Amino acid sequence: TMFENLTDRLEGVFKKLRGHGKLTEDNIQDAMREVRIALLDADVSFKVAKQFVASVTEKAIGREVGKSLSPGQQIIKIVHEELVSLLGGDTAQIELDGRQPVVIMMAGLQGSGKTTTSGKLAKMLKDKGRRPYLVPADVYRPAAIEQLQVLGDRLDVPVHPSTTATKPVDICTQAIAEAKIKNYDTVIIDTAGRLHVDNVLMGELQEIQAAVQLSEILFVADAMTGQDAVTVADKFNTDLEISGIILTKMEGDARGGAALSIKTVTGKPIKFVGVGEALDALEVFHPERVASRILGMGDVLTLIEKAEAVVDKDQANKLAHKLQTNQFTLEDFLDQIQQIKKMGSLDQILSMVPGINKLKKIKDAPQPNEKELGKTEAIIRSMTLKERRNHKLINTSRRQRIADGSGTSITDVNRVLKSYSEMLKMMKKMRGKPGLITGEKRRK
Ligand code: GDP
Repeated sequence: TMFENLTDRLEGVFKKLRGHGKLTEDNIQDAMREVRIALLDADVSFKVAKQFVASVTEKAIGREVGKSLSPGQQIIKIVHEELVSLLGGDTAQIELDGRQPVVIMMAGLQGSGKTTTSGKLAKMLKDKGRRPYLVPADVYRPAAIEQLQVLGDRLDVPVHPSTTATKPVDICTQAIAEAKIKNYDTVIIDTAGRLHVDNVLMGELQEIQAAVQLSEILFVADAMTGQDAVTVADKFNTDLEISGIILTKMEGDARGGAALSIKTVTGKPIKFVGVGEALDALEVFHPERVASRILGMGDVLTLIEKAEAVVDKDQANKLAHKLQTNQFTLEDFLDQIQQIKKMGSLDQILSMVPGINKLKKIKDAPQPNEKELGKTEAIIRSMTLKERRNHKLINTSRRQRIADGSGTSITDVNRVLKSYSEMLKMMKKMRGKPGLITGEKRRK
């Protein structure tokens, strides 16, 4: 997952510091040497890594020694602050106020994820109540126009009927005129990409920039390409003066070099990150939260937002009632799995849980993963409705049939039933303590 390697390495550095009674210039220097190597291994640019270490060192040596923090904690706090600033400081929003329609141009190399991200952004804005209009302006590949049309259909977002016979700049002016007539408030232009930076392409984008009032030029890059993404971003910024960056395929980027260098090098903030192929796999980039994730502290805020987006209040209340009255069935268990899956891939969710990295390293600890969740789901689905409502009906021969029906083994079925019973036991214990489940305070 995101930044995984760096997280591991930094944890190692901080662990060593914990062994020292207090911070000295020597142990700070030692630790910072390792941090610098960790950053370089994460494909952070040389200059950025050097600057980063210099400012952490300066702060650490100059800082008043707070009594409440241990040496390890002090360094972590400083590293966190510096990471936040490296990642861009405050969360950068896109410009949606002012002149309507807002016009956003997506730019970047071919394969960076421009078209997919145009769709994702349209979905995100539509979910916020805006009326987006998707505009394909890549006239070199007929398939590109079609790709955006397919996305628009799936999202129920209108797509401008561009043709390959029209010049991109004309497509854009026509589309904006159309948006005004139809009251679409956000125009998203998906432009052509090339395999490499190319002057003809740049000229075409500059022509669009000169002809229409753009609110945003978002440079889209594949995070996995590391320093190449940074170099290309710099070039686009020089030629076009971009307003922000979207890094795609972040979920697969264990190193994170592009994310950590791109703001310093270009001066432009990362505004969103793509974290999967699905159309809802686009996240606002919050430097503060990402810094916490890098330091293995999780990202509880994003987790809560994701949960709130999928959880239905009525359903949650019903569930709380069931828990209190001992009616939580295997069917409810299945519902819970569905809800979790709606929040995104399990790996993605788990990466936001504080301390999960440590759990992963404990031998024999139960490892939550997508495969196990899928198995559990298949097993419950192979039960009859009656069985789901009363697990006591499931005897040995039924267990075998459920295993056969779900393509699993009887050991798997037993494990699911066992964890369900454990859950029931735990709930019983919690029921003895009012407030734990419902959040209500005990009455006097
Ligand atoms: P374009 O040439 O820049 O328009 O790129 P596309 O939008 O066609 O994307 C290229 C490939 O990258 C497609 O297979 C997308 O599904 C994939 N892709 C885009 N964003 C992400 C992301 O955030 N994560 C992953 N895993 N794949 C992505």
